[in-house]
Amino acid sequence: MYSIKELFKIGNGPSSSHTIGPFVASKEFLKRYKANIDEIKVVLYGSLALTGRGHLTDYIIEKTLLPIPCHIEFDMFTEMEHPNTLEFYGYIQGNKTCYMKVYSIGGGAIKIAGEVEAAKKKIYSLTSYKAIAEYCKKEKISLSEYVDLVEGDSINDYMGLIYETMLKSIENGLSHTGVLPGKLQVKRKANYIFEQNSKDASYDLLRKKTIAYAYAVSEENASGGIIVTAPTCGASGVLPACLRYAIEVNQYSYKECIDALKVAGLIGNLVKENGSISGAEAGCQAEVGTACAMAAAFLAYLDNGHVDIVERASEIALEHHLGLTCDPVLGYVQIPCIERNAVAALRAIDAAKLATYLNSNDSKISFDSVVKTMLNTGHDLRTSYRETAEGGLAKLFE
Ligand code: SF4
Repeated sequence: MYSIKELFKIGNGPSSSHTIGPFVASKEFLKRYKANIDEIKVVLYGSLALTGRGHLTDYIIEKTLLPIPCHIEFDMFTEMEHPNTLEFYGYIQGNKTCYMKVYSIGGGAIKIAGEVEAAKKKIYSLTSYKAIAEYCKKEKISLSEYVDLVEGDSINDYMGLIYETMLKSIENGLSHTGVLPGKLQVKRKANYIFEQNSKDASYDLLRKKTIAYAYAVSEENASGGIIVTAPTCGASGVLPACLRYAIEVNQYSYKECIDALKVAGLIGNLVKENGSISGAEAGCQAEVGTACAMAAAFLAYLDNGHVDIVERASEIALEHHLGLTCDPVLGYVQIPCIERNAVAALRAIDAAKLATYLNSNDSKISFDSVVKTMLNTGHDLRTSYRETAEGGLAKLFE
């Protein structure tokens, strides 16, 4: 598995596979071929073609390739080997000089077709929860100490940046009002929810605030603001909402939160390695389902810390998202995405609680098995339910 720095990325929304991935791919194309081009054509396939406009894919590519003129084609019919494929063609005076095919594989990561990924980047030799849990028990170390062991000291500064950016994205979202970009004319609600309930002293207050925090980040994401992929842009509201919830409820220290965020990253990394974090590949269970599992692990680690409880919490959170489809209306990461982040944040809180109420030793379902099941379920979903905006809720607005 790669470093969790590869999972938590800071970038502009609204979609890690549709904006951050194409941004990274465009940069890579320029790095390799800039000297040999005076014009570029980019062809988008699959989900990138079907929902690219709503996800601002064309905008981000054109902006990144500037000042070189770029023509973008949306090929909605050719089936490629990966659902998020881009082809770059470079020209000088009309003659083709270079070509690069790229897959945007989720979470802002890319893969260049035909190239073997550098093995040295894979720093985790243990790639299942079972193996990691056994190792931690044998060595009598915590999950966050395991992450420290693999990642080295630099992970602390990096996670500090992630912590700050997550909290900042909440503040930014709470401070904005008005309407989100795009044809849907969706009103921002985070500020309204937060203000409406700030004087409410009932039991529900913190849950309402958590909803406002998830909305805040998701609305920032939908409007192209800076967020942290956790594990993706579309699902970026869940973990920050639970982070601020944990700080407000239990006054957890900075160090405690940083350590718990490492554990959340480990869970996201395991899903990325053994399942999928891409809505185009496996539906929303891979994005919001994984975010919920990461947030549940984060809270369970803060609350108890035991490897079995953390496993149970993240397993419960992911299991009850199985089959969740990706059906963004008109291709915008707004409906159902924003509300879904809020629901998942509340679910993460409940999953972490449930894990502590149950006997963690008698679970019949392991985290590793639910990750595999999620991937298999995702592959069984028709493509109309995998970020193509052709099925589910998206059909209501055709
Ligand atoms: S429905 Fe889920 S997976 Fe699809 S774009 Fe929205 S948040 Fe991402």
